[in-house]
Amino acid sequence: MLYQLSYRPLRAPHGGPDAALRRTIVPPSMGGVTQTAETTPETGQLTLRDVVAVLERMHPLDTAQSWDRVGLVAGDLDQPVSRIHLAVDPTLAVIEEARAAGADLIITHHPLLLRGIHSVATTTAKGVAVTELLVNDIALYCAHTNADVADPGVGQALADACGLTRTEALEITEGQELGRVGDLPAPTTLAEFARRLHENLPRTAGGIRVAGPADGAVRRVAVLGGAGDSSFDAVRAADADVYVTADLRHHPALEAREEASLTGGTPYLIDAGHFASESLWLPGLASRLMAELAGAAARLEVHVSQVRTDPWEFVLGASGPEQDPLSGPHTNDAGDLA
Ligand SMILES: [Zn+2]
Repeated sequence: MLYQLSYRPLRAPHGGPDAALRRTIVPPSMGGVTQTAETTPETGQLTLRDVVAVLERMHPLDTAQSWDRVGLVAGDLDQPVSRIHLAVDPTLAVIEEARAAGADLIITHHPLLLRGIHSVATTTAKGVAVTELLVNDIALYCAHTNADVADPGVGQALADACGLTRTEALEITEGQELGRVGDLPAPTTLAEFARRLHENLPRTAGGIRVAGPADGAVRRVAVLGGAGDSSFDAVRAADADVYVTADLRHHPALEAREEASLTGGTPYLIDAGHFASESLWLPGLASRLMAELAGAAARLEVHVSQVRTDPWEFVLGASGPEQDPLSGPHTNDAGDLA
């Protein structure tokens, strides 16, 4: 898909609560003139500063992992905010969706600029994203690993979708509680558990993948939204029957299943999809933002993006728990055992 850059004019300098007193003076050497910020701020107009303060109370910056890059990515703290757009990823489609909806602020889980970049020219997708945000006057805020560990946060949202009511931390990483583990109200089978979880997840082309017998007993559940194949030791230590996470790569997943085969077969694995497992956080965040901010705002709308930022479009050869596409001996074209 081609993204057509679509600019609307930048508005006048933003006025904050002290806008009447603020003056931006551009030195004559820069060919400048004296600009006066808006002098009549609307009563009850939320600013980006207000929203950021609430976000950082919910997800303190110092609870993010040391490698992460969270917080305000683009925007002017004094700019008015009346329409907020929530998404997992700040993709070009999400930014276009937000622009078309007239959003002032996009809040995403994943950072746009996690690694060092040296250009925001429109010769790269990230450059287009930054340019689109700036020229359309849309702020971007990211709450990533600090949202993972928050309560309510990404981990608890996934635990809720699994039907866990009381949970504890799966592991402690850099002093923060990462992932959740808890017991289902009643035992069930792996297939039934997976079915119920699937019903609570947004639809994606890949669905969810399950490793373990359909009739395996499940009571204790560990969850970690997003990529979780580095936490198998914590899952085993928690004595979980099933581990719900995403981005399970071949070798770590296979080795975890091999280890499980020596200890009764658990933990079973469910790869719920990176986007799907983390998108569960967004509706709750929308409600919390409305509860925190709506009272102080003359007008506020919070929307959850309808863009599925899962990158996969379709799959072939998938099967449900009732079918086993690999059953029977594998044969080559000549009919011999392969
Ligand atoms: Zn993630």
